[in-house]
Amino acid sequence: MRALFKHTAGPELRLDAARAVPEPGPRDVLIRVRKAGICGTDRHIWEWDAWAASRIPVGIVTGHEFVGIIEKVGSAVTRYQVGQRVSAEGHISPGTGYNARTGNAHIAESMKILGVDRDGCFADYVCVPEENVWPVHPSIPDKVAAVLDPLGNAVHTVMAADVSAKAVLITGVGIIGLMAVTVAKAAGASRIFVTDVNPQRLALAKRLGATEAFNTYVPPPPREPSGRAGAVTPATPEWINEIRKATRGDGPDVLLEMSGHPAAINDGFTALRMGGTAALLGIPSMPFTFDLTNHIVFKAARVLGINGRKMFETWYQMEELLLGGRLQLDEIITHDLPMEDFATGFRLMQSGEGIKVVLSVNA
Ligand code: ZN
Repeated sequence: MRALFKHTAGPELRLDAARAVPEPGPRDVLIRVRKAGICGTDRHIWEWDAWAASRIPVGIVTGHEFVGIIEKVGSAVTRYQVGQRVSAEGHISPGTGYNARTGNAHIAESMKILGVDRDGCFADYVCVPEENVWPVHPSIPDKVAAVLDPLGNAVHTVMAADVSAKAVLITGVGIIGLMAVTVAKAAGASRIFVTDVNPQRLALAKRLGATEAFNTYVPPPPREPSGRAGAVTPATPEWINEIRKATRGDGPDVLLEMSGHPAAINDGFTALRMGGTAALLGIPSMPFTFDLTNHIVFKAARVLGINGRKMFETWYQMEELLLGGRLQLDEIITHDLPMEDFATGFRLMQSGEGIKVVLSVNA
C-alpha cells in the first residue's frame, strides 16, 4: 500500500508505495482510508522540531484524523462490519489505570496516539482497536468526517467551559480557534469576541459568528529609543477596554485560549471577568512569566486544562451539533488535495494560506 512515513530523523515525510498492509489483531478493525486531515501535530512531525525529535520513532506512518471504509475486522470484533463508513478516536487507551477506569480514558496513563506512537492514517489502510471506531452518520460528508478529531478538541473546550448565555473571548483563531467560534455560537454563547494577528482569519471568525474581532498585532519598538530613561509600564491594550465597555465593565465570562502565545494568555486573563472560567487548549512553546496572583488567585478564576476529546461524550455532542446543522466548517476546510500532493499541503499550512488541509487518499 501507499503510506507517508518518517524516513529519517529530520524534516519532511516520504511516500512509500510498497508498504505492507497492516494485519488486524483479533480486536482490531482495518480501514481503507478515504480522506485524512493534516493536523498541527503532523506539521511538528514534518518540521521535526524538538518535540517531534523526542517523541516520534523513525519509520512510523503519520496522520491521525481520517474517514474511511471498514475493509476487514478481527476475529473477536462484534460491533462493526466490512463496508461501514467510520472515523476513529486517535487516542488509544490501555483500558487500565485510574483515568481509564474512571471515565477519563482521554487522559489515561500510557496512552498511545495514532500516527505518533503507532502507524497512522496517511496511508491506504489504517488499523485501530474496535473501541476507538466511530461510525459516521450518512449525512456527514467525508470532508467533515475527516476532521472530527480537531473539531472534537474545539467541542470539548467549548463544552467544558459552559458558554451558554455568556460573553466569550477566544484568543487565537487558528484551525481550532475558528472551529471554536462556530461551536460556541451553536452552543449558545451570547457574544463571541476574538483576537488574533491575522486579518484574514479575523474576518473569517466574523463570518462564522464572532461579534467583534480584534487585531492584537503589536509592531516591534523602533530601533532608536526616544532617549527617555526608565521602563515604560505597558498600558492595558485598547481591545480589552472595548470588551469591558461592552460587558458592563466586567469583562468576558469565559476565556477560550487557543493560541499558546504568552502575550495572548496574559491579556486573555487580564480581560476575563472576576470569577470567570478559562479553558486552555493552546500550547506555549516554552515556560513563560505569568501573573498567577492576579490572573487566577485574586480573580478567583476557574481554570481548565483541555487535552484531547472525552471518549466518547465529546463525539456524541459533536454529532448532535453537526446533525443539527449548527456548525459552519466549509470555509475552515480550505484545501482538499490528492495524497501525492502532501508536500503542497504542508507548505499551505506553513504559509498560513491554508487553514485546514485534507488529503484525499482513496476518494
Ligand atoms: Zn489532530
